[in-house]
Amino acid sequence: MILKKLTGRHILSVLALIALAALIILPLVSFADGEDTPAESEASPAAEDSLPESEADKNADIFDIPPATGVLSRPALQQAEKDTVDVGLSYGRGAYRHITFTAAEDSMLSHGGDVYKELTFTWEDGVMYRDGVPCQKAYVRSSAPITLSNTGWSYEGVMILTCGQYGITLVNRVPLENYVKGVMSGEIGEDGSYESRKAFAVICRTLVFVARDHGEEFDLCSKNCCQSYRGTFHRNELNDKAVDETAGMVLTYNGVPCLVAYSSSHGYNSCSSFAAWVGADIPYLRVVRYDNEPLDYGGQWEVTYTYEQLSARLKYYTTTGIVRSVSVAETDPYGSTYVYRLKVVDSAGKVSEVMYGGNIMAVLGVRCANFTIEQISGGITIHGIGNGHGVGYSQRGGHQMGLEGYKWEQILSFYFPGTTLAPCREFLE
Ligand SMILES: [Zn+2]
Repeated sequence: MILKKLTGRHILSVLALIALAALIILPLVSFADGEDTPAESEASPAAEDSLPESEADKNADIFDIPPATGVLSRPALQQAEKDTVDVGLSYGRGAYRHITFTAAEDSMLSHGGDVYKELTFTWEDGVMYRDGVPCQKAYVRSSAPITLSNTGWSYEGVMILTCGQYGITLVNRVPLENYVKGVMSGEIGEDGSYESRKAFAVICRTLVFVARDHGEEFDLCSKNCCQSYRGTFHRNELNDKAVDETAGMVLTYNGVPCLVAYSSSHGYNSCSSFAAWVGADIPYLRVVRYDNEPLDYGGQWEVTYTYEQLSARLKYYTTTGIVRSVSVAETDPYGSTYVYRLKVVDSAGKVSEVMYGGNIMAVLGVRCANFTIEQISGGITIHGIGNGHGVGYSQRGGHQMGLEGYKWEQILSFYFPGTTLAPCREFLE
């Protein structure tokens, strides 16, 4: 896939997004609840899109999503069939030195004008070989998914092999929509309300356009750094249908694809990007509140630490190496209940702070920064709700909104206020 060259106006916003791309995705739970009948809801999801001036404002509901009735009109879009993405499966220092491809039943692999049932490539001392014959670059095609023996997973499209510095760079060139289907199966599995699957398909597709820069050899990697992609592994009909029915659509802000961050559950309110990540005050990643979000799948948790354990975790925030107290100094300035500043006092009375939810999660080793701290004898108990960084879309919240009758467009505009759906072909050459 070739992304359009960006204009100066776009570059500023996209650079900020790319810098954050590694933070977008946390490992996600699979959804268990099926397609239940939409239930009546008294939920009044709410968002805040400017800095509150007082404590009282923090709980103000100033954004109401439209009632969940009818189907919104949406831009007609015909998928551009030929759009493909190049996904890096093996590269850099982790590149494979031995690759075997196997053809699916009733099909053959085609390579260099011949057909094969199985093909093996090796790498040794900076040279790639196919059956003992050195080669610099190779293409392997098939009419059916090609199985990669190294992982056991199968891939549609073309396999492109290049001799790399540390092994064989392996790239899967796959149609964009098939790539999205492959990501869907890895990221949400076989569960989730149907409307939330459609919303999520748009999210997966949008992230293609704000992915990390992996250089010339491929567009995205197949790991969590970009999005987890395992080809046809665990593909299922409902996810595929959700991708087909939203084909080509991406979420944009000010005319460019936006950083559609997501995590598993948010604990009734999302965290602003400002409070989660250093230097990231993104207008469509502020705070939305949704009281009906389920807290299953690890969305409610607690952890107890002794001061000895806290001293080990927070030693860089002390002068003495001994922590005497840990408490919440400030929550999200945009009004969510996520911790923005954590106060640490050491045995000499020195006060330090851990800033930003992402850092706080990391140093405390907790699932999210949406927590309260209870002081107990000899330590603290952290009571948390939510699972993940909490910025942007909540998978569990989106699932529930779908059950309550909200449409995918409404779910997306709720979690990403101010954004617009647009055909992604605008951003392809
Ligand atoms: Zn990546």
